[in-house]
Amino acid sequence: RPRNPLELKDIFIAVKTTRKYHKSRLDLLFQTWVSKAKEQTFIFTDGEDQELRRRAGANVINTNCSAAHTRQALCCKMSVEYDKFIESQRKWFCHMDDDNYVIVPSLLKLLSSYHHTQDVYLGRPSLDHPIEAAERVKSDGSVSVKFWFATGGAGFCISRGLALKMSPWASLGNFISTAEKIRLPDDCTMGYIIEALLEVTLTHTHLFHSHLENLQRLPTDTVLEQVTLSYGGFENRRNVISIGGAFSLMEDPSRFKTVHCLLYPETDWCPSKGHH
Ligand code: UDP
Ligand code: MN
Repeated sequence: RPRNPLELKDIFIAVKTTRKYHKSRLDLLFQTWVSKAKEQTFIFTDGEDQELRRRAGANVINTNCSAAHTRQALCCKMSVEYDKFIESQRKWFCHMDDDNYVIVPSLLKLLSSYHHTQDVYLGRPSLDHPIEAAERVKSDGSVSVKFWFATGGAGFCISRGLALKMSPWASLGNFISTAEKIRLPDDCTMGYIIEALLEVTLTHTHLFHSHLENLQRLPTDTVLEQVTLSYGGFENRRNVISIGGAFSLMEDPSRFKTVHCLLYPETDWCPSKGHH
């Protein structure tokens, strides 16, 4: 057991979102896991919203990045997330999308087994092989680089020790120019800085989940031990974890409320035991 156990206040959780998802996605997060990590969770968005501001106050960061789903706009948000984390003095940076459920006790337990002063980059690789990118170099040539990266849609975490070393390529807008050098998305750019430039390896974990994988196949009896969950595609083919409980698929299409009530049955809107 560590002498200085990691506490929730040591973690900085960044949630990337966009104006049009404040109602449809963020409300669900505030209702569920964010309520267990209010002071730790920072919302990075692209448009002012008084209701959100009333709800989360200074924990909402309007990045002033464009609301377009382009590489530049997403990298702009990631660069603000990075700068705010550095400013925060906290021990761990964790990035999440607004369709992730964070099982807060599992996250704390996982990070407790590493040290924030060491170089730690934790996440789920999105491919089963490293990505190969063309790195633009001066004299308009390019060289090929291979590296692993953690898929942003599953969430990932970085220790402060490592984040500080990333500064020349990540701080104060440098992240955007670094991304332009390889012309890849924000999560790939993180991997490029960490694995290719700093030569620190990604610690592969399967406790993080995005909707790029088949979530129905995640064994039901292991769901509550995971660190992150996600959901995708309600419209046509549903890709959600299979877990039964208080709510039907219609009442809880993402399954996040169901997971939340299994983790925290005392929550006031969870059906109390005995009534069901
Ligand atoms: N997102 C964003 N700007 C956009 C579209 C999406 O910041 O214009 C965010 C969104 O809120 C989410 C992440 O990017 O946190 C991934 O978006 P989404 O889940 O819609 O797409 P995916 O890539 O997972 O299919
Ligand atoms: Mn998504």
